[in-house]
Amino acid sequence: MTPQQLRQYLGFYQDLGVKNVYRRTPALQTAVAQPAPVPEVVRQSIELPPLAPSSDTFQKIREDIGDCRRCRLCEQRNKIVFGSGSEQARLVFVGEGPGADEDAQGLPFVGRAGQLLTQMIENTAAKEGIPIRRPDVYICNVVKCRPPENRTPQPDEMEICGQFLYRQLIVLRPKAICAMGSTAAKALLATKDGVTRLRGNWHKWHDIPVMVTFHPSYLLRPYNQEAKREAWEDLKKVLHFVYD
Ligand code: URA
Repeated sequence: MTPQQLRQYLGFYQDLGVKNVYRRTPALQTAVAQPAPVPEVVRQSIELPPLAPSSDTFQKIREDIGDCRRCRLCEQRNKIVFGSGSEQARLVFVGEGPGADEDAQGLPFVGRAGQLLTQMIENTAAKEGIPIRRPDVYICNVVKCRPPENRTPQPDEMEICGQFLYRQLIVLRPKAICAMGSTAAKALLATKDGVTRLRGNWHKWHDIPVMVTFHPSYLLRPYNQEAKREAWEDLKKVLHFVYD
């Protein structure tokens, strides 16, 4: 592993908010601890795959995910939910993880929260005179398998699945990302701050602007009128930034 690859690995997992990456990754310690030139065969055996292989594509990413059994979420999932929308999208929405409807269909945001997200995108765009529909953006999640009982994904699940989100975002290179809810914000911004504090302002994932907003599931709760209004404001800001 070259120093540059090492920095990339550590940086990526730190971006995800994962603590003690170095201690938790024996392969990294082995890689760094090599004191002297290592025989070629050993070096090859500790080489980790690049985070985002050059000439990466969605097809390759999906093939690499395969019938994934890398974390416990595989045990109860029905379908892996890779993402949906345009591969030329200039705007990407990132949620937390599939729910029951998404797990059954293999598509993100197709349940009640998804219907609200579709309405939010399409109604706000129409009102603002921006000619886009939901299929023009890309929608995916931090984890690609449904957490049991819709619990919040655990840090190791985010860490393992995060590599595929990273590759998707690198391939898409959108003009902006909208992180919906605190799991997406944590994964992309490596922050402990909550949505209320983060929303409404621009942040960055690598060099790409990120707007944090409320998760549509939160907006479905009846007493969240103010949050709904704020989410609409956030979305307006994102849509004008990307499409004006
Ligand atoms: N909630 C999410 O975070 N993602 C989905 O795909 C559906 C609901």
